[in-house]
Amino acid sequence: MLAAHPLLGEIDVLVIGGGVVGSCLAGFLAEEGVGVGVIDDGRIGGSNANAGSLHVQMQSRFMRLYPENVPGMEQQLPLYPRGVRFWQALQAKLGSEFDLKMTGGFMVAESQDQLDFLKVKARRERELGLDVEILDRATLDRIAPYFGPAVVGAELCANEGKLDPLLCNVAIRRWIKGLGVVLLENEPAGRIQREGAGFTVQTDRGPIKAGRVVLAAGSGSTDLARDLGVAIPARPEPLHMNITEATMPLIGHLIQHADRMITLKQLGTGQIVIGGGWPARLTGGRGYPTVELASLIANVTLAQHIVPRIAPLRVIRTWAGINTSVDGRGVLGEVGQVPGLFAAIPGDAGYTLGPLSAHIVAQLMLGRDPGEDVSPFSPGRFAPGA
Ligand SMILES: Cc1cc2nc3c(=O)[nH]c(=O)nc-3n(C[C@H](O)[C@H](O)[C@H](O)COP(=O)(O)OP(=O)(O)OC[C@H]3O[C@@H](n4cnc5c(N)ncnc54)[C@H](O)[C@@H]3O)c2cc1C
Repeated sequence: MLAAHPLLGEIDVLVIGGGVVGSCLAGFLAEEGVGVGVIDDGRIGGSNANAGSLHVQMQSRFMRLYPENVPGMEQQLPLYPRGVRFWQALQAKLGSEFDLKMTGGFMVAESQDQLDFLKVKARRERELGLDVEILDRATLDRIAPYFGPAVVGAELCANEGKLDPLLCNVAIRRWIKGLGVVLLENEPAGRIQREGAGFTVQTDRGPIKAGRVVLAAGSGSTDLARDLGVAIPARPEPLHMNITEATMPLIGHLIQHADRMITLKQLGTGQIVIGGGWPARLTGGRGYPTVELASLIANVTLAQHIVPRIAPLRVIRTWAGINTSVDGRGVLGEVGQVPGLFAAIPGDAGYTLGPLSAHIVAQLMLGRDPGEDVSPFSPGRFAPGA
């Protein structure tokens, strides 16, 4: 038997994973007087790889890659505008500047087929309550005069926007540290075992005893849950990102594509963030996300095709990170088979949904009404025979 963990012998709640979800969840619980520790195999305080797009409309990338998930995506759709409003409220609550701009977001088309796809998508999204419209090229030229000649039209979603995740992550970390949340960094959580009514979680520095445990470890949650006989099928998806040097204000909106992998936005710093789902790879025993040159080239080539004025800008940084993909829906709430074990995994575009997802799970843990119908997100949907 290992000695107890030196920093965290015993705690009310141990949150495994200090991304945006785990960090915010710890903050919401600590505000209510719950003793919380967060353990992460990297740095705690936010999801460091993500691009800061606040997504609301259904992303064509996910519809194309995982058509079987579209019904789940539709069930989750109403959460996205609420997730964006929750980010605005969090910014106000923390009194911090997130560079959060509600500019609206385009999904552009380069052919009549793509525009027809967007028309069908927009009709469905309007039925589900989103504020979306289809714009022709002449209208686009009036409000977004930066697109290349190939763009024929776009879907505009008014509720979309962007923020600077580095600013958010710093503010969230400061917030939870100020609340006394114990942060265990660069420390992987190992096997979880039942101990009485609580749990023991193994770490390299000794076991941690916790009354309740939250799996907020993204795709890492799958292995952790398996130790307790629980199925949570969360897959790692390594993705590539780029950021350019700063330039004058050029792109106001968030930009995506109806059929190709691109997201584009300009931060308040003047830098343009270019991503959209190009693959990275996992290397080494621990599966470290590593950039692929082919993704870098294809991603920036497509970016300058959509917005030609990007072409002279230098890419000053590229990085890779791990996205988590389940079934198009979040996994939020108590795992019925194992009382005291909670899952907190947002659905696609999980940064957008991160603070709201964390708040929902925190409310459930506090025995309060989460303010949402959480049944579509129940971890129990993966239980055998469910
Ligand atoms: C490159 C990229 C760009 C993205 N851009 C956007 C975007 O613009 N907008 C958007 O809405 N979403 C975006 N996403 C998705 C978004 O970043 C994720 O959905 C979001 O970060 C999920 O937050 P999380 O806290 O659930 O998980 P994560 O941020 O993945 O955090 C989970 C944490 O758990 C830790 N962990 C895992 N296993 C263990 C273990 N055994 N022990 C200890 N710690 C463990 C991990 O190290 C990690 O820090 C992007 C994702 C990537 C990869």
